[in-house]
Amino acid sequence: MKVAVLALQGAFIEHEQMLQRLGVETTEVRNLDDWQQYVQSIGTNDQARLIIPGGESTAMTRIIRDEGLYQPIRQAILEGMPVLGTCAGLIMLDDQHLGTMDIQVRRNAYGRQLGSFNHVADVQEIGHSFPMTYIRAPYIESVGPAVQVLAEVDGHIVAARQGRQLVCAFHPELTSDTRLHEYFVQL
Ligand code: GLN
Repeated sequence: MKVAVLALQGAFIEHEQMLQRLGVETTEVRNLDDWQQYVQSIGTNDQARLIIPGGESTAMTRIIRDEGLYQPIRQAILEGMPVLGTCAGLIMLDDQHLGTMDIQVRRNAYGRQLGSFNHVADVQEIGHSFPMTYIRAPYIESVGPAVQVLAEVDGHIVAARQGRQLVCAFHPELTSDTRLHEYFVQL
């Protein structure tokens, strides 16, 4: 398996380090060339994976369009390539951006005071007492019928899955807990 990590901006290196700890190969995608090479090298088998990291969804949206990556990535996800979106990466999959997940998201949902905080909560399918680091995080306001809610904090959805699309509002790559990444590479 080789996991493509969208490396346009934001916290992509931390995802690569997490996967390296699991012994999983990674490659950075910065432009259409990188993406096409990745897709060709991995074929259409079950070994392809994409991570969209945290960062700034407005900047990421602009770059993804400028680089011609919007349609090819969207299509690969719709065709079943597993994808993990964390924080801004979650926003990127919502109905206002790539539109591959049936989720409605509130950006910067915790306001300035609570912009960044840590929490511990269970994540269904993944495990108990998962450490969660939130940085100017979104939460999911509502989901469609195809979406399974995996975690809620204070009544707000912070992790969900729709088929092979997995999203979380927190940053699993910034802790030492590898369970979410292990779950993702097995999806
Ligand atoms: N606030 C950012 C946004 O709206 C997300 C923050 C993050 O990814 N840590 O895109």
